[in-house]
Amino acid sequence: MKHQPRVLIVEDEPAIAELIAVNLRHNGFEPVLAGEGVAAQREIDTVLPDVILLDWMLPGQSGLALARRWRTDARTRGVPILMLTARGDEPDKVAGLDAGADDYITKPFSTQELLARIRSVLRRRAPEQAGGSVAMGALVLDSAAHRVSWQGHILKIGPIEFRLLNYLMKHGERVHSRAQLLDKIWGDHVFIEERTVDVHVKRLREALGAAGVMLETVRGAGYRMTARPQTPIRT
Ligand code: CA
Repeated sequence: MKHQPRVLIVEDEPAIAELIAVNLRHNGFEPVLAGEGVAAQREIDTVLPDVILLDWMLPGQSGLALARRWRTDARTRGVPILMLTARGDEPDKVAGLDAGADDYITKPFSTQELLARIRSVLRRRAPEQAGGSVAMGALVLDSAAHRVSWQGHILKIGPIEFRLLNYLMKHGERVHSRAQLLDKIWGDHVFIEERTVDVHVKRLREALGAAGVMLETVRGAGYRMTARPQTPIRT
């Protein structure tokens, strides 16, 4: 039998949680319910889900705090998180994505929209997980271990910056426009501005330290990771 993706639904409103669960079950997913963070953690500790649907407003720890924690925890770092938010909470969505959520969906949503988002985060995560490691000079990114090192030293890097670097390294020496990066790293979020890319590129450069010069800005075109930067690497 085909593997049914396990979806952990962290939602404190039983009617919504049950509705989502029924729809997921009818569409080949295996839903698991948790009403708040502690129960959700217990489920995660037992069986790692393939996707987490995380409500923003929860009793106890907020969805935002949970997303942050799961993103930094080695066990859950690779699990896609889809945040459920209330209509009109745009700053919340940005904060959620910043905390490491892969996508968001606004309540009320249709089953079709939810399924499309879940399939999309599963697709986006898959190549990254299967990717193994990629190297550019002394810079090495290990997808499976979710680790980046420069000259053998592990670098501290945020979740979005990691995905950005992963993409840029796997498609190295090529220039990517901000719009392309938004699409590949964030998905098609209409509300995210292109300058968001610049913010994360800046953070990524800082995290890379001496190797930061390998991430080049190509004026009027976008960004590129190169093994032969214009500015020499300080060693
Ligand atoms: Ca709620």
